[in-house]
Amino acid sequence: MTDIDDLLRRISDNDGVLREPADLDAYRGDMACPLGGEVLAVARPRTTAQVREWVAACAAAGIAITPRGGGTGLSGGATPSPGRRTLVMSFERLHRIRALDRVGNTMIVEAGCPLQVARQAAAQAGRLLGLDHGGSGSSQIGGNLSTNAGGNNVLRYGMAREQVLGLEVVLADGSVLSDLRELRKNNAGYDLKQIFLGAEGTLGLITAAVLRLRPAPVACATACLGLDSLDGVLQLFTRAQETMGDALVAFEVMSREALALHWVRVAQPRRPLEADTRWLVLVEADSPSRYFDLARAFDELMAFGLAREIVRDGTIAASEAQRQALWRLREGIALAMIETPGSLKSDQAVPVAAIAQFVAQACAAVEAVVPGCVPAPFGHVGDGNIHFNVLPPPGMTASDFRDHWPALTQSIEDCALALGGTVSAEHGIGLLKRQALQRMRPQGELQLMARLKRTLDPRGLMNPGKILL
Ligand SMILES: Cc1cc2nc3c(=O)[nH]c(=O)nc-3n(C[C@H](O)[C@H](O)[C@H](O)COP(=O)(O)OP(=O)(O)OC[C@H]3O[C@@H](n4cnc5c(N)ncnc54)[C@H](O)[C@@H]3O)c2cc1C
Repeated sequence: MTDIDDLLRRISDNDGVLREPADLDAYRGDMACPLGGEVLAVARPRTTAQVREWVAACAAAGIAITPRGGGTGLSGGATPSPGRRTLVMSFERLHRIRALDRVGNTMIVEAGCPLQVARQAAAQAGRLLGLDHGGSGSSQIGGNLSTNAGGNNVLRYGMAREQVLGLEVVLADGSVLSDLRELRKNNAGYDLKQIFLGAEGTLGLITAAVLRLRPAPVACATACLGLDSLDGVLQLFTRAQETMGDALVAFEVMSREALALHWVRVAQPRRPLEADTRWLVLVEADSPSRYFDLARAFDELMAFGLAREIVRDGTIAASEAQRQALWRLREGIALAMIETPGSLKSDQAVPVAAIAQFVAQACAAVEAVVPGCVPAPFGHVGDGNIHFNVLPPPGMTASDFRDHWPALTQSIEDCALALGGTVSAEHGIGLLKRQALQRMRPQGELQLMARLKRTLDPRGLMNPGKILL
């Protein structure tokens, strides 16, 4: 009897299991790491009870499980580890919105619900789910919580972790930890849910969560400004915080090189500004109150930038269509980077005040490794998260450039670490950044993580080969 036959014998309801090689292809890897170890089968449970049954059966048969959301993760977390025979647990059919409470501002959502669907459900009820990013159409709530996803609005709402009030998790032994209390205040003992948020499926499987909502904004303003220095960008950011306070929801920066990658993919490019500046900044503020004067706040910010000659050019979106066009620029960069062979992606964060220093030092560092390579940084100024991506020098093939990726990556990470930063701001560790994690965290912390893993998953069956070496 094969491993998978043995496993299926233990399951009461095999509905939805995929076993045919052609059906498994879509589950063999994720966006960052397309091909991993052998996939025995894909389980697609519809209920928490079914997840529990699968986990208990895998525990009995000694089979590893890799949980999978939308497969949009950027560190190989949903890719089954090479050298292991793995059951992929896909949450695509466990996707209901169980409840939405407009008084308490909460929703209970199952793990497989796409982020965008959860956001739309909140919006239909006049509420906002404060997590959003370029992968929201395909990524799922379970994946977002397991990577502690960030995105465009961390400045105002925090990371995925900060949207969670309660969690339902299936543990490695098949038991369920269910704390779906819709409480803002709960100091009754250790906050166990935090262990599973950002754990990338290595400690248990998230099946549902209570998410925090807020009143939906009724007014929104978005501007695109052209600047020539990152020092100027930081001055403008400081002023934007003082002028707009908590209304400031996004402050994104795009280098000329990152934008160039996007423009070549657009059939009829419509550049937002006449001036060709070194940096474009996308600033957005919104408010759930119609009494906040957003237009005046933006006028004041623009006047500040122009008077100090920090801002060379700028435009404020006059319609929702114009606003979306500005955001397409920003999201287009992320997509262009993913789809450009050879482009080196990175995900560092440094203290916000050190962003200009980080970019200058990283430019020099990568030039020393591959002369002529093209840094194309962009990212979230508000939380210090700069994606310091690098393109090959003109004339170098993508595959030749890939040979330099490890040395380039390490040189960029060294710059971030020297400034008190991190090697992974929002994409997690997964399969690809485990060495970097070892370089970043002290031995004592790594040992504590390993002890936690052994305690919750003594047989090492929960997404093995991820985060820890
Ligand atoms: C165009 C684009 C833009 C993006 N922009 C951003 C951005 O701005 N910020 C950002 O943070 N990310 C961004 N991402 C990355 C990605 O969308 C996030 O990492 C997302 O959180 C992953 O969700 P997923 O459902 O696709 O998870 P997957 O990729 O399927 O899985 C991610 C990890 O979570 C685990 N996992 C999945 N579901 C569960 C579960 N139910 N229980 C336990 N573990 C589970 C997996 O095993 C894996 O380790 C972007 C991606 C794309 C394609």
